[in-house]
Formats: sequence, C-alpha cells, structure tokens
Amino acid sequence: MAEYTKAQLTEMITGKLQRNFGRTVDEAAPPHMFKACALVLRDIMSRRQMATDNQVWEGQQRQVHYLSLEFLMGRSLEKNAYNLGLLGTLKDALEGLGFSASDLFELEPDAGLGNGGLGRLAACYLDSMTTLEIPATGYSICYELGIFKQKIIDGKQVELADNWLGLGDAWLIPKMDEAEEVRFGGKVEDCWDSEGHNHPEHTGYTTVLAIPRDMEIAGYQTRHTNVLRLWDAKSPVPVDMSLYSRGEYLKAVEQQAMAEVIAKVLYPDDNHYEGKSLRLKQQYFFVSATVQSIIRKHRAQYGTLRNFHEKHVIQINDTHPTLVIPELMRILLDVEGYSWEDAWHIVTQTVCYTNHTVLAEALERWPQSLIQTLLPRIWTILKEIASRYQRELEHRYGNDTGKIANMAIIWGGEVRMANLCICACQTVNGVSALHSEILKKDVFHDAYLARPEQFTNVTNGIDHRRWLSQINPRLDALIRDCTGGDAYLLHPEALQGLEKYRSDKTVLKKLADIKHDNKLRFASWVARESGVVLNTDAVFDVQVKRLHEYKRQLLNVLHIISLYHQLRDNPNMDFVPQTFLFGAKAAPGYHVAKEIIQLINSLSAQIDRDPVCKDKLQVVFLENYRVSLAEKLIPASEISEQISTAGKEASGTGNMKFMMNGALTIGTLDGANVEMHQQLGDENIFLFGLTAQEVVQRKQQGYHPMDYYQQDPVLKRVIDQLSAGFDDHVSYADLATRLLYGAGGSPADEYLLLADFQSYCQAHDRALRVYGDSKRWNQMSLTNIARSGIFAADRSIKEYAENIWHVPTR
Ligand SMILES: *Cc1c(COP(=O)(O)O)cnc(C)c1O
Repeated sequence: MAEYTKAQLTEMITGKLQRNFGRTVDEAAPPHMFKACALVLRDIMSRRQMATDNQVWEGQQRQVHYLSLEFLMGRSLEKNAYNLGLLGTLKDALEGLGFSASDLFELEPDAGLGNGGLGRLAACYLDSMTTLEIPATGYSICYELGIFKQKIIDGKQVELADNWLGLGDAWLIPKMDEAEEVRFGGKVEDCWDSEGHNHPEHTGYTTVLAIPRDMEIAGYQTRHTNVLRLWDAKSPVPVDMSLYSRGEYLKAVEQQAMAEVIAKVLYPDDNHYEGKSLRLKQQYFFVSATVQSIIRKHRAQYGTLRNFHEKHVIQINDTHPTLVIPELMRILLDVEGYSWEDAWHIVTQTVCYTNHTVLAEALERWPQSLIQTLLPRIWTILKEIASRYQRELEHRYGNDTGKIANMAIIWGGEVRMANLCICACQTVNGVSALHSEILKKDVFHDAYLARPEQFTNVTNGIDHRRWLSQINPRLDALIRDCTGGDAYLLHPEALQGLEKYRSDKTVLKKLADIKHDNKLRFASWVARESGVVLNTDAVFDVQVKRLHEYKRQLLNVLHIISLYHQLRDNPNMDFVPQTFLFGAKAAPGYHVAKEIIQLINSLSAQIDRDPVCKDKLQVVFLENYRVSLAEKLIPASEISEQISTAGKEASGTGNMKFMMNGALTIGTLDGANVEMHQQLGDENIFLFGLTAQEVVQRKQQGYHPMDYYQQDPVLKRVIDQLSAGFDDHVSYADLATRLLYGAGGSPADEYLLLADFQSYCQAHDRALRVYGDSKRWNQMSLTNIARSGIFAADRSIKEYAENIWHVPTR
C-alpha cells in the first residue's frame, strides 16, 4: 500500500513549502511544515476522491448522505497518514527534514465541530463508511468557532473562543462554483397556473450563500475516499462603497453580518434544546444547502428526480436536520411541480432517523411563530404534513384524543421534530438495545404500535483504528503478536484471538507493562502541561464526558468524599492508592453543572493539601476535555466510570473506548453498558445500582432520598460535608438541597444518586480487591479487550448498510 517512498514524500512536502509559503525547509516554522504536510495528504486524497466519484457515477450507485449538525473530528494529520498507509513514511520524511512528527501532530488544533458523543459518533461513522467503501457524504456547518476551550480559573470553568481555522483549514477545499442559495424570511403567496397547479411565490426574502468547504475522508486500506461537506455562510451582496451615498451601505453591511453569523459558532449545549432563532437558521441553512446540492448532482446525472429515492438515502443524526423533510418536499413541489403524493412518496422513501436521547429537555419543539416568520414556505408545508397526519391519526384512533395529542406534529403552538421524523422516515433507530426498547415501550409507544416494523436498533460503535491501534501503539503491537498480524484492523472480531492468552503469564505481564507505561507517559504530559504531578502508583479511576446531572459526576464525588472521611478517621488504615481523574465541559448556561465542576476542584484542593491523603488519594480535574486529550488519557486508564442513572444514557461511546483499551468498567446497566455486560458476564465488569425498570418503579412508588440520608450515617456525613463545604469556604449547600429537597422545579435527587450510593461504594470495594490481585485484574483487562470487537463502528455501519440503507459494503 505504501505508494510513496520517503524521498517522494520529502519532495512533495518541500515543493508545497516553496509554492505555498515561499520558504525553504530551513526557513519553515512548524506551522508551515504542518500545513505543507496536510496539503500533501489532501492532494493525495482529493485525487482518489475524484476517482471514487467517477466510480459512483458510472456504477449509478446508491449513495448515503449523513446529515449531522456536529462532527467532532479531532485531529487529522496522523489519522489521514495512518489510513493512507503513510504514517511511517511521513514520520521518516519529517525526521529527515529535521522536524519531529509527534511535535507536528501536537500542533494541530482539534476540529471541535461537536459537543460530545453524538458528534464523535458521526466522525467515527465517516471513517467506517469510507473504509467499507460506501459512497457516502457527511454534511454539516463549517463553524468558525468550534466547541469552546475550557480554562479552569479559581476552580471555575471559563469559556474561551476556539478559533481552529488558522491551521485547521489546511484540510478544507472551498468550492465557490458549488455554492447554493438559501432563503430566509419574506412572504409566500399562492399562485395558481392555468392548469390549476399552485406555484407558491416567495417574495421579500433574504438570501444567504452557502459555500462548501470540503474535507476529504480517507479510508483504511482502500482507495475509496469520501467527503465531509462543511457549509460556510456568506452574504451574496458585496459591500459596495458606492451605495454609501444612497444610504444602502449600512443595509448591505447588516445583511453581510446577518449572513455570516450563521456559521459563526457551534451551540455548546449537549443533550439540551435551546429554542434560539439563530440555531433554527443554522439548521435550515445547512439542510437547504445540502438538499439543493444533492439534487443538483442527481439531476445532472439522471435528468429527473423520479428515481431520487432509489439513488439516495438521507440519514438524519438526531432531530437537528429534520427540516430536510419539508425542504425536500418544497423542491419537489415548487421547483419540480410534482403532486403532493408523488413528492411525499419520494421523501418518505429517502429519509431515515436516528434518535439519540429520551431526555424530555432535549426533545426539539420549535415555536410555530418562529418557523412562520423565518421560513414561511417551509411552514405551509409543515402545516400540510401535520394536518394530513392528523387526519390519518383521527381515522385510526377515532376519539382517543390522548394518542392523537401525543403523536401530533404541531401541537400547542409548537412543531415537534421527533414526531415529524416518525411520520416521514423509513426507519427510526435507537443507539443501543436498551435505548431502542425504551423508545418502543415508552417514548414513542403509540407510534411503535402503529408501525412496529419502522422501529429498529443499531448499537453505536467507535473507530477502533483510531481509538485502539493509533492511540495505543504498544497494545496494537501486542494484539498483532497474539492474533497473527493486523487482521483485526479490518475484522475487529479477530480481537477474540487474544482470549486464548488469558492464562499466559508473559502476555499478562506485557499487558500490565503497557498500561503502566501509558500511565507514565500520560503523567509526564500532564506535568508538562499543567504542573500537576499524578501518582502513577495509584489506580487511575477516570470519568471523562460532558458534565450532566444524569451522568452523575456528583455520585462519583460523593464516593470520593466518603473515602476522604475514612482516611481522616483512620490515617493508618490499609488503603489502595487511588487517583480520580475528571474531565468535562459544562454548557455555559448550565449552572448546576458548573457548580459540580467547582466542587470537584474544591475537593481536589482539599485532598491535595491534607497530608493524610499523601500518596493515597488524589483528585484531578483535567482542563478542556476533548478528542486529543481522550486519546492520551484512555490508554492510561484503569477504571472507567460509566455511572449514569439507568435508562438515561442512550448508548455512550466513551464506555467502549475504555473497554477496548483494557480499562475495567464500574457501571450501571444503562445504554451500551448492558451489551458490554452481555459480552463480559458478571465476572468481567463491576455493575451496581438500580436497573432502568427499577428506576421507573422507584419513581412511581414515590422516591424519598431523605430516607437514605437518615439511615446511612456514611452518606449523611458526606452530604453534610457538601452543605458545610471545604476549607476554601465555597458553599455547595444548594447541591445538597437539590439532593434532599429538590429545587427550581426539579424533584429531590432527580437522578437517584442516594438510592445507588451504597451499591456504588460496594462496586468500588470489589474493584479494588481485584486490583490487589494483579493476575486476576490483568485477565479481566485482557478479556475486556478481546470482547470489545463488537463495539467497532465497522459493525454498526454494516448494520446500517444492510438493514437501513440497503447499500453493499466491501
Ligand atoms: C467519546 C467522546 C465523548 C462521549 O463520551 P460518553 O462517555 O459516551 O459521553 C465525549 N467527548 C469526547 C471528546 C469523546 O471523545
């Protein structure tokens, strides 16, 4: 596969330096060198992408369009070199030119075009779709500012702008000639022709230009290359100084600013709906440009849209791109002049929906007035879709108004995006077995009864080439040694082959050495970055993910406080040294989440200054959790905290990354943890807490956290400590109040931390006992890696391809 020698690559890089930056190697600073490398790989990929395009065209293949408002790509230089089979050659070439490859990789900013799991899933799926040679395109917005950078100042989160495009745009190819126009506002009037057809006329609108900035996506061991199309927003009106005298200059500037603000910034809310008009503009902007672009290419090839649904499938990642449904209808009706029935047939044969959450506060419900003023034609189409659906429901359910109200698309002045998806989509899938069952039994129960065959499951997966092979090269080498080469990279189920070494002392020792080495590396990186010295003799117990009450970082904190109390009471007790690592961004407007971050930092400082805890207990909050930090941390992790309230986490993918790197999970039976447990059995995972069913029952019976507080003296003391605070005198009394009494409309201990506290502490005790028996620990670790193959994104994408998209794979 290595199609380029070191000498060729060297020449290509120096050529780029010369032509693009007018510099010799000696004059090149690292950023120039980074860009030159990126451009060289980009050239290779875009040549292959054009060949892929031709094949798809000639074979008239069915294409997948993956629409997502988020793609959390992380870094690309090392990844692309890896997938192109050029990683070794590139490293050699760079050394030869006097540069360190790993320093250059570190220079690259993360493309943080996403919040967390949902955006990272989209990125992993792009890799798998390409590696499996599916003709697929991702679509999103080219946010100028990705997810904010987090600083911790005086224990508190401070948000800074993430300006990634300075270097990151080396990967992007702008295509001015493929720009699309997107229209906002104005008025729509019916306009009937002589044959009685309506051609609604849209006037007085504002136009925004959507300009593609394409990112090439290389697959692994294939020449197949796909594209992530990121739309940038520009005003079509140039700001013309000659307008100044006519008083239109300011109007032009205003319009330009209005247009360009659309692609300015990613909304930093994870699993939370914010009904902001700019967010709705982003959604329509990206969806309209995408549909127009797909249709333009389709028409050029086939000359008709009659076969559109045969040649395309549109996967919508959560409800954020739902407006693709009325937008496709609009073009088929208004531009093509199709009948409603014909248009609806094509749309409903094309669109598929993935649900990502059952949290009520995350379900999108747009005010109809907002849609009406911003998107008048889309609004009339939505009304028609909703009223036809309403008639269908009335026909089906007669006067069962409960069911009708539940399933309605427009209700109480709001447009419910999930119900629109269910009405229009071929399939509705959840992202883990448990989550998909909850959709059928609970959230969308009526819709499920009406069309059971529509509902399906595809359990999430991760790009194991990135999340194992690339980030943990020594483990990768051990796996190759044990399983007979690199077959597992294209056949993740081959990881199973590790299992026969369960009792092989040498392999277990190597596994332990690799983990320890990864801990040392990570610790030295943390020391360099922040000056914090991690205790590498302690077990690394890690919870990294977005900060959310349902993810229960606070439960983790309560347990650590109880350990601290134990040590205070009995400084000489037998104590397994533990280092608790946290990493989490809180949405800027999520006050409770920000308070929990501050609490972790208060506790960290308290423990750090108490000599009783020295070399035994440590808490560290890692600033600015992101893909490139996860890549360093996960190979060094020993305990993975996956402790959400059962029934709340749709799948989780962090859980899979840890499992694949040999960390053992302390977790609830939630999301994909359930399927991890199925693979592992009770003996290879530390489960605790209520099941999803028990959570529902407990709430129905009336849940009284005060009972646990009063009956468990350990728990009582922990909560009292929260109320009293620590030596820094910051008060966390309101967090204690939320647990015991509830506040601001939320019930007491909404996420059942107190109900699960004791069971959680016991799970830790069990884990530490095993940790003391290193043979058993290493065996469990090996088993986790060996059985993690099912959580490769390749498996997920094969399921989508076969059951949902009906496209072939390699
Ligand atoms: C994988 C990943 C996530 C998702 O983590 P969960 O534990 O599944 O919530 C979030 N952020 C980053 C940076 C990730 O890499």
